[in-house]
Amino acid sequence: MTRPRFNRILLKLSGEVLMGDGHAIDPAVTARVAREIADVKAQGYEVCVVVGGGNIFRGLAAAAKGFERATADYMGMLATVMNALAVQNALEQIGVDTRVQSAIPMSSVCEPYIRRRAERHLEKGRIVIFAAGVGSPYFTTDSGAALRAAEMKCDALFKGTSVDGVYDADPKKVPTAKRFETISYDRVLADNLKVMDASAVALCRDNNIPIVVFNIREQGNLARVLAGEGTATIVQR
Ligand code: UDP
Repeated sequence: MTRPRFNRILLKLSGEVLMGDGHAIDPAVTARVAREIADVKAQGYEVCVVVGGGNIFRGLAAAAKGFERATADYMGMLATVMNALAVQNALEQIGVDTRVQSAIPMSSVCEPYIRRRAERHLEKGRIVIFAAGVGSPYFTTDSGAALRAAEMKCDALFKGTSVDGVYDADPKKVPTAKRFETISYDRVLADNLKVMDASAVALCRDNNIPIVVFNIREQGNLARVLAGEGTATIVQR
């Protein structure tokens, strides 16, 4: 099956993608992820990035241990800003102009989220990293990714994970699990398949933004999938 051509993408990186060797943010792993982004940027794609924070702090998990939920969620959002700065640092070390915009303004650290300014950065060939999700507790960075993908008119949301697509069962537990080449938003929601949060999937569905689920841990995979070659699953209508 030939995949559609995407020009402007939003790449969602879970916090755990930056982990390695017992470090929440492993510099070597982060540098590798940055090279993936730089490669596709060099090929002319426009790239927005949304980073998670789960490698450092997750509000829901902390709330289960007694933290007040909203406070824990704000802590989680702050964690995403740390990850965003780490990815920015790694990109700039290889000469890629990058701006971080946070949904929670912190002007000494990064720019506040301003959609039109983000648009200008992309026009100038910069990578824009969106931090702090949607800026409100009780949400996740998956929802932040879907929201920013819609606002920035991205052609697709690329969800980088540690598996190469969406399966009908957990491929790490069920050897006969089957990978979907494409699957509908409605099936993902009805079968409760673990692609992204339901609210994020619904937002993509309502705005007709394809979700491309692929393995970001494999070197060169982002470029391959964008070229229509690598293994992935597309969630679409
Ligand atoms: N978070 C939030 N609102 C948002 C985005 C994130 O409250 O709009 C908090 C939430 O506590 C979440 C944490 O930030 O657990 C880290 O984000 P997420 O779990 O989405 O990170 P990922 O799993 O992608 O690493």
